[in-house]
Amino acid sequence: MNSNPIIIAVDGYSSSGKSTMARDLAARIGYIYVDSGAMYRAVTLYALRHGMATPEGNLDAEALNAALPDISISFSPAGADGRQHTLLNGEDVEKEIRSMEVSGMVSPVAALPEVRHRLTELQREFGRRRGIVMDGRDIGTTVFPDAEMKVFVNASPEVRAKRRVLELRAKGENVNFEEVLDNIRERDHIDTTRKESPLVQAADAHVLDNDSMTIPQQMDWLLNLYNSIK
Ligand code: C5P
Repeated sequence: MNSNPIIIAVDGYSSSGKSTMARDLAARIGYIYVDSGAMYRAVTLYALRHGMATPEGNLDAEALNAALPDISISFSPAGADGRQHTLLNGEDVEKEIRSMEVSGMVSPVAALPEVRHRLTELQREFGRRRGIVMDGRDIGTTVFPDAEMKVFVNASPEVRAKRRVLELRAKGENVNFEEVLDNIRERDHIDTTRKESPLVQAADAHVLDNDSMTIPQQMDWLLNLYNSIK
């Protein structure tokens, strides 16, 4: 870790590839990586398991708010697959939180102010020692408005849906393109129009349009920016 660690916020739309680039960047520069979306997904999984949310779209906000003190979220150190896994009350839920069932309910859960306040607190705690790359929707605007490096990632819904289908199929989930595209559009809509810290580009964010960029090109772009800021 270098002597003067900074905070790096990577925000953008669902499936824009921000998690991959944030994780790779953190590994390259020796920073901690935190996937804030995984935290919203873990709360959603808890709500689904406890009948506070249903796949049909019902959400009992009061019950979930009351249960928040019982929900603990943490990350395991990187395992054999080279990735850290999300832990919900100590249980590894990395696979379950990526399912379409969780994706279908996560944006309504993430729109609840109490859920956001609780996770924002936890995210700030992760960033207390700096030297962190965090990706999400409101990291550069709400969680770390003073982050030294802010990136906003843009890609078209179709390109994002294609990437997500490949990712889900690789994990053995049988999904079709239209279903995934609808989910991406629905989440974009909820994420950008909710009252509490909606997804918006921070005024001082650097925009990365990655529709036609390869992963190595994105990494060069990020490292150039990082080196210009450090
Ligand atoms: O990043 P990912 O797509 O896994 O995030 C899942 C969902 O969590 C998003 O669609 C959004 O509703 C919510 N989220 C959020 N704020 C964040 C990160 C994720 O509202 N900082």
